[in-house]
Amino acid sequence: MRSSGLVDFHCHLDLYPDFAAAVDDCERDGVFTLAVTTTPKAWARNQELAAPTRHVRAALGLHPQLVGERAREIDLWEELLPNARYVGEVGLDAGPRFYKSFDRQKEIFARVLKASADARNKILTVHSVRAAKVVLDMVEAHLPPTRGRVVLHWFTGTAAEARRAVDLGCYFSINTEMLANEKRSALVKALPLDRLLTETDGPFTQTDNRPSRPSDVGRVLDGLALLFGQERGTVTAAVLDNLKVLLSDRE
Ligand code: MN
Repeated sequence: MRSSGLVDFHCHLDLYPDFAAAVDDCERDGVFTLAVTTTPKAWARNQELAAPTRHVRAALGLHPQLVGERAREIDLWEELLPNARYVGEVGLDAGPRFYKSFDRQKEIFARVLKASADARNKILTVHSVRAAKVVLDMVEAHLPPTRGRVVLHWFTGTAAEARRAVDLGCYFSINTEMLANEKRSALVKALPLDRLLTETDGPFTQTDNRPSRPSDVGRVLDGLALLFGQERGTVTAAVLDNLKVLLSDRE
C-alpha cells in the first residue's frame, strides 16, 4: 500500500465494470484518487468502499448532465452533504445536448454552492462545459474561497476566464485531453503551477485505446513536465504539494 505520489482528482470509479476492483487498484498502485459520483444515490456505496482505504476518497455529486431528469435528487444531496468532505461531480453544461436544462442546472448549482458555503470547508470538483463564465459568476456570488474550494475539472474556458478563476482561488485538475494539442496546452501553460492537480476523468478518457485508469495519470505528469520545462519529479512533487495545501486549507 505504498503511495506512488500520483493524484487522480477526478475519476468515476463506480462506472468501471468492476467498481470494487477499481478501488483496490488505486490502493495497490498507491494513487490518491477522488471517486466522483453523478448522483447522490451512488454516494453510500462509494463511501463504503472508499472509507477504509488510504488512497481513495468519495465525492458527493449530482452531475449537470443528469439534472434534466434528476433535479429532485438535490434533496438527497443536501441531506448527505454533512457526511461528505468532497463534492462532485457538480457544475454546469451548456453544450447542445444539455442546454435545455440549463436554467434548472443553474438552480441546482446555486443550491450546491450555497449549501457548501454554509457547511464550510468542502472541496468541489466542478464541470463547466461551455459555461465557464456562468460557473465563475456563481462561484464568485456564492462560494468565497474562505468558505470552500473549487477545483475546475477539464477546464476549457478562455485565458481571461482562467485568470479570473485563479483570482477566485480555484484550482484546476488537468487531464491528457487538455494537453492534446498546442491550443489547449497554451491555456494550461498559462496556469500557475501551484494551482494544478491531475485527473484522468476515467472511464471517459482513453489511454492506449482503452478507458483510462487512475494509474495512467502519470501521462499527465509527463505532459506537464514537458510543457513547463521541468523534471517529471518536480512536477509530481508540486501536484502532491498542491493537494496537501488544498486539504489543509481551513481558513
Ligand atoms: Mn467527470
